[in-house]
Amino acid sequence: MEKINDLRKLLKHELDDLYSAETQLIDALPKMAEKASNKQLKAALSGHLKVTRTQRERLGKVRKILSDGKAPAEQKGFFASLFSSKEGDEHCKAMEGLIKEAESLMKEDMTPEVMDAAIIAAAQKAEHYEISSYGTAKAYAHQLGLKDVAQLLNTTLDEEYAADDSLTALAVGKVNIDAENDSSEAKRTVRGTESGQTKTTAKKTAAKSTTSKTVAKSAGKSAVKKTAVKKKQSSR
Ligand code: FE
Ligand code: ZN
Ligand code: FE
Ligand code: FE
Repeated sequence: MEKINDLRKLLKHELDDLYSAETQLIDALPKMAEKASNKQLKAALSGHLKVTRTQRERLGKVRKILSDGKAPAEQKGFFASLFSSKEGDEHCKAMEGLIKEAESLMKEDMTPEVMDAAIIAAAQKAEHYEISSYGTAKAYAHQLGLKDVAQLLNTTLDEEYAADDSLTALAVGKVNIDAENDSSEAKRTVRGTESGQTKTTAKKTAAKSTTSKTVAKSAGKSAVKKTAVKKKQSSR
């Protein structure tokens, strides 16, 4: 490995790592979407898969700019490029770990409602890793005066924030509420007669009062978390 002795090389290293992270997510997101039951969650994960493919292409563009117009594989020579994996020069071990954790979570015995909540949590951990990494990379590009690179990275950063926000909205607005009680028994009997969504009136009222508290609490929590993430980046 070449010695990393300046910020530009560290930026390249970070971008190679991100390229690997996005590549791993492109494999993982369809599995998570398939395992999800909530239609909006399925759509959110599939939608972010498309965005993720674009992000990987955008990273390719950024790496090309940093390599003075040459694609990283061209620099290494023909034979080296033949044997390099599709991930590139780095393997992101953090994303590998996050995905492994998601996969073992998805093997657990859960009701569909609770599984959806768990899938959102796993997806948000991956998004937060990306937010942190793109925030750092953007700050490096800014420091190096690479305006076009910083702008491209910021586009992706905004998309990652949007994905994270929509998952939070889905969790606190619907999925966490559905997961709050082990209602699989009650629901199964109601589903036979009604359209499938509602519990008995008495249970629904009881659920409502506890649910609104939960929503307020978790909404507050995620707001705090997000501020922390944003602060961390702006201080860089
Ligand atoms: Fe991404
Ligand atoms: Zn390394
Ligand atoms: Fe990494
Ligand atoms: Fe993402």
